[in-house]
Amino acid sequence: MTALSGKVQTVLGLLDPAQLGRTMTHEHLTMTFECCYVPPPTGDDAVSEAPFEMRNMHWLRQNPYSSQENLLLCQEIEAVRDELQYYRQAGGGTIVENTTTGITRNLPSLKQLAKDTGVNIIAGAGFYVDVTHSDETRKMTVEKLTDIIVSEILHGADGTDIRCGVIGEIGTSWPITESEKRVLRATAHAQSQLGCPVIIHPGRHTTAPTEVVRILQEAGGDISKTVMSHLDRTIFDYGELLEFAKLGSYLEYDLFGTEMLDYPFDLEIDMPSDSQRVQALSFLVKEGYEDRIVIAHDIHTKNRLTKYGGHGYSHILKNIAPKMLTRGISQGQVDKILIHNPKHWLTFK
Ligand SMILES: [Zn+2]
Repeated sequence: MTALSGKVQTVLGLLDPAQLGRTMTHEHLTMTFECCYVPPPTGDDAVSEAPFEMRNMHWLRQNPYSSQENLLLCQEIEAVRDELQYYRQAGGGTIVENTTTGITRNLPSLKQLAKDTGVNIIAGAGFYVDVTHSDETRKMTVEKLTDIIVSEILHGADGTDIRCGVIGEIGTSWPITESEKRVLRATAHAQSQLGCPVIIHPGRHTTAPTEVVRILQEAGGDISKTVMSHLDRTIFDYGELLEFAKLGSYLEYDLFGTEMLDYPFDLEIDMPSDSQRVQALSFLVKEGYEDRIVIAHDIHTKNRLTKYGGHGYSHILKNIAPKMLTRGISQGQVDKILIHNPKHWLTFK
């Protein structure tokens, strides 16, 4: 038990969980993603370096990681502020901004955005995938990593007094690297001390989420307070999905709005459409998992902002929630997914 018990921690301080309202559980408002640049397809060098114009937007949707400019969401604070105002008008209450060390977390900007827009913003503690770990991070013991994560939640992060309210997104690759395993164990240790929510970015392999759960569990983590992100690009077979669901984590479909033919990070993967995502949610609800589902857009590149013709942070509220109602999901179940499940996850034990 700590002072955090029964509360949610936003960048503006502690909050009564009933104040959260509709919550996107996996977003980025400011970050950099240069770590994951992918060279453009043959012959596309010119368009990959071209300025943002309407005629390039379809190309960017198909090749979002092949434009250096597109990977700098950090440059769009003004546009993001406008988007958050629109998100509030659309009925949104809270955003989990789970940018961690390695992809340029910016806590002062998050605090200012929360003040300016009235949207509750919850920041993320910990470390992204191995390619972004510094040499210093790689050399750290599990104990040292645990101390850092605990301190980011209890005292503040990045030299500020602004506190994180969730651990993650904790980045893992496939196969999971040794440095990532230490961070996962530190995450579990910090979670068992603090009773806090955890969110995981699994590697791109169908068994990656299960392997992460195993490592967290062995280190004393609380899987019932852990979100497994990106299931829409990780587990495709419904049988495998049910096997994973039985492990008891929250099941997150968080790439709403992402529709692309070739997924640049793994060409074997067929990225589902939003309709297919809704079908997967409908399936999980019918199988009894309505208390375990959370959803988001995971905006992490510029082209997904409405400023550039993208879907923005309100796509789920404006388009996906109504669609869910037409596919066998009741209003009460939609409210669970958007309000109640995030609230229970985010409340410190
Ligand atoms: Zn993310």
